[in-house]
Amino acid sequence: MKIVSVEPLVIDLPLENPVQTSFGEMTRRTNVLVRIETDTGEFGIGEIWNNFPSWGAYEKIATLIHGVRPLLLGEDPREIGTIHHKLFKHLTILCLQWGAIGPMHHSISGVDIALWDIIGKHYGLPIHKLLGGKLQDEVKVYASGLGPRLSDELVLKHQEMGITSFKLKVGNNADLDLQNLKRLREMMGPDGHLMIDANQAWNRQSAIHNLMKFKSFDIAWIEEPLPCDDIEGLRYIREKTGLPVAAGENIYGRKQARKALEQEALDIIQPDLSKNGGISEARIIAEMAGSFGSPYAPHYLGGAVCFAASLHFIASIPGGLILEMDANPNPFREQLFTNPFTIKDGKVNVPDLPGLGFELDQEFVDFYTIDYKQM
Ligand SMILES: [Mg+2]
Repeated sequence: MKIVSVEPLVIDLPLENPVQTSFGEMTRRTNVLVRIETDTGEFGIGEIWNNFPSWGAYEKIATLIHGVRPLLLGEDPREIGTIHHKLFKHLTILCLQWGAIGPMHHSISGVDIALWDIIGKHYGLPIHKLLGGKLQDEVKVYASGLGPRLSDELVLKHQEMGITSFKLKVGNNADLDLQNLKRLREMMGPDGHLMIDANQAWNRQSAIHNLMKFKSFDIAWIEEPLPCDDIEGLRYIREKTGLPVAAGENIYGRKQARKALEQEALDIIQPDLSKNGGISEARIIAEMAGSFGSPYAPHYLGGAVCFAASLHFIASIPGGLILEMDANPNPFREQLFTNPFTIKDGKVNVPDLPGLGFELDQEFVDFYTIDYKQM
C-alpha cells in the first residue's frame, strides 16, 4: 500500500453576514482539504487550518505541494508514525529558516488526519479504536464565536440543542465586553460554564484591569489574554487573577507546549488538530499535558473534517474535557457530509464507522470547489 496522490481541495463561499473578529472582518470561508490516495484505490480526507484570513490558503497549499507531498509519495500510510517523524525532520529547519512554521504545521496536520482516515478505512476501524479506544461515547460541546455583536438568537439556538457552555469574544471594547457578559450570564443562568476569549488582544496591565472587573460573572476560563508567545505573562495572569487560563491554538508542536506547561502558564491546553501537527502531534501534547494535570479542550473553528477528527481524539484521551464549536452558521461544518453531526443534550455522538466515520457529500463539495491555481 503506497501513497500515489496528495491533492489539495479548496472549497470557498462568500459570507452573507460577515463574522467579526478582533483581527478584522471575515467576509468569506475558504476551507482547505487534502485528499490522499493509495495505489490500492483507498483514500482519506484531512483538513488544513484556514479560518482567517482566507488568503492564508496560498502558503499552506504551496507548502503542501512543494514541501510535504514529495516526502509522502511512495510511503505506506500504515507507517504513520514514521511519516510523522520524517515530515518534521525534513521540514522544521527549512520552515524556521523560511519563517513559515505555521503553514508547515497546518499542512502536516491535514495530511496526518487524512492518513488516520485511510488507515481506519483500510482496517475497518474508527479512528478512536486506532487510538486505543474511546473513554466516552458522546462528547460535550460548547458554543464559541459569540460577540462582539452578541446575538440572543444565536445563544437561544444553541440552548435548544442542550448546550450549556458558551464562550464570548472579549478584548475589543471593555464597556461592550461587560454589557455582553452581563447579557450572556443572564441568558445562561447561574449554572452554565461561561468562558471568555481575548484572542491575544490585551497586554499584562489591561488584562489584569479588565479581568478583575469580569471575574464576578463566574468565568470558567480566560483564553489567550495576552500575545501567545508571552508564556511568562500567562502565568502572571493566572497568579494575579486566580482565573483559569487556556491557550494552545497558537502554540505549535510539542516543544512550545512543553515550555508553556513547565512554566505553569496554562490550566487548559487547546491545540487544534488541523493546526498543530494533526492527531499524531496532539496525542503527544495531550499525554504530556496529562502528566502536568492539565486537561485538553481542543480549539476548533474549521469545517466538518476537523470536527470529526476532534471527536475521535477527545473521546480517546483521558484528559478530554470539552469540544469547541463555532456558533456562527458554517455550511462547511453543517453540510459537508452525507451524514452530518447532530447535537443532542449538548453532546455529539462519537462515530463508530471506519476512519473519520463520515462521507463527503460530493455534490456539495463540487458546487463549492474552486480552482486553487486560479486563486
Ligand atoms: Mg481562541
